[in-house]
Amino acid sequence: MKSYDVCECGAPLRLMERPTPKPTGTEVLLKVIAAGVCHSDLHIWEGFYDIGGGKRLKLTDRGVKLPLTMGHENVGEVVAVGPDAKGVKIGDRRLVHPWLGCGECAVCRRGDEQFCRTPFSIGVFRAGGYADHLLVPHPRYLFDIGNLPPERAAPLACSGITTYGALKKVGSSLQEEPVVIIGAGGLGLMCLSLHRAMGGKGAIVVDIDPVKREAARKAGAQATIDPSAADAAKQITEATKGGAWAVIDLVGATRTVQLALDSLVKGGKLIIVGLFGGDITVPTPSFPLRAITIQGSYVGSLTEMAELLDLVRRKGVPDLPVGTRPLAAVNEALNELKAGKVIGRLVLTP
Ligand SMILES: [Zn+2]
Ligand SMILES: [Zn+2]
Repeated sequence: MKSYDVCECGAPLRLMERPTPKPTGTEVLLKVIAAGVCHSDLHIWEGFYDIGGGKRLKLTDRGVKLPLTMGHENVGEVVAVGPDAKGVKIGDRRLVHPWLGCGECAVCRRGDEQFCRTPFSIGVFRAGGYADHLLVPHPRYLFDIGNLPPERAAPLACSGITTYGALKKVGSSLQEEPVVIIGAGGLGLMCLSLHRAMGGKGAIVVDIDPVKREAARKAGAQATIDPSAADAAKQITEATKGGAWAVIDLVGATRTVQLALDSLVKGGKLIIVGLFGGDITVPTPSFPLRAITIQGSYVGSLTEMAELLDLVRRKGVPDLPVGTRPLAAVNEALNELKAGKVIGRLVLTP
């Protein structure tokens, strides 16, 4: 099989060839049909998260090993199954849930494999879909996509589940108050689309790039705001008629988190998803006095993936723009994303 691997942090991915694995036990082998290029791949590729103050959180310290085949947004066709893999057969097209845990600890048994202390996430801690084949340890990670086009279904594995998980944390105000979404890249447009599918009241989208703000307006945002404006927080407060009940920050930079905190109404909630990096100082009395919540949101559970696919079956697949590229163009695709040139999502089609 062929794959494009990170062999050295930040250096171009290298074409590797190795024997195609034969599934044993509950394993399932897929031929990759679509592999989304996600923004978090840029962090994995570079090898660190910026944690503010000039400090870095290294991914190798979190257990990421090189060489690594990235790619965690995958749709594939089943080409071989292990003797104990039940419920799938050769020829099935499946979306791969990549947020694997050990499957055995209390956290995993509760259904929150994404929070397992020994994560095995596909494309992060084990080989992903920037390849022609992908080995999945158990059929429970495979989801039927029905007639959905593979390149539109693939982004549901990360961008979809991540924004769905964040939107669920908004709670009951989702249907009653506009939500503020910071960032109108692939994640932002996915969030906007799922917000509508979930019966959301309206969305105000914040992005520094006028092209991305325009894309957000076209995708149904009720208002868009430029965060570099000196009165950006005031604009958000006005657009939400007194302050935001919920801000989903898909960027997660010092400035965006600060802007979000400045825009919250009493009782409001900030949900941080983005991994841009930085740090903030918050006066502790503002938590009780303003009764605010700051919550992190990281991907989602197998149950949430099933819910998301059910939502998509009922309401249609999110209509974010998708551009396809051959697998061999993975380095160009990553560089396009890094340069901020991508509207919507790039998907590799091996
Ligand atoms: Zn576990
Ligand atoms: Zn991702």
